[in-house]
Amino acid sequence: MNILEIDDDQTESSRHPKESGVVETGLRRRINKLREKNVALQNQLDEAKAQRDEAISIKDEAIQARNEAQALIEEILERTRCPISMEPMTDAKVLCECGHTYSDQSLNSIPARYEASGQNNEKVRVDRCPECACVVGKPPIANYTVRAIADLVSHLD
Ligand SMILES: [Zn+2]
Repeated sequence: MNILEIDDDQTESSRHPKESGVVETGLRRRINKLREKNVALQNQLDEAKAQRDEAISIKDEAIQARNEAQALIEEILERTRCPISMEPMTDAKVLCECGHTYSDQSLNSIPARYEASGQNNEKVRVDRCPECACVVGKPPIANYTVRAIADLVSHLD
């Protein structure tokens, strides 16, 4: 729709000055309203962008937290692995003499050692800790805390 029509010899304003003034005022009002609406839309857009940036930031933090939790689980899993078999120690046993912990299966797989002892160098069986080499005299006992942690972390994804 053309509100202002301009012909060759006369403009609308020179032909109908009063009517043209009303049209111009109406147009200005519409332009001003459109400008206000534009400003409001720009503000909404800026707000939406700020919310989007915040959402991206929260997502990044969540990803970082998940990665840290995953790394922590991996670390715990590594620490609950048997130093001999490298399997999670769900059947952990602790050596009473030194406190070193192994899986029961690994302790049972260690071949018997015999060492010369006494005045006549008689060979006697001597069990030693694989890590610190201390002589083990007492039977190892169950380490329920390590078993529980190993069981827990080995079932986490
Ligand atoms: Zn030891």
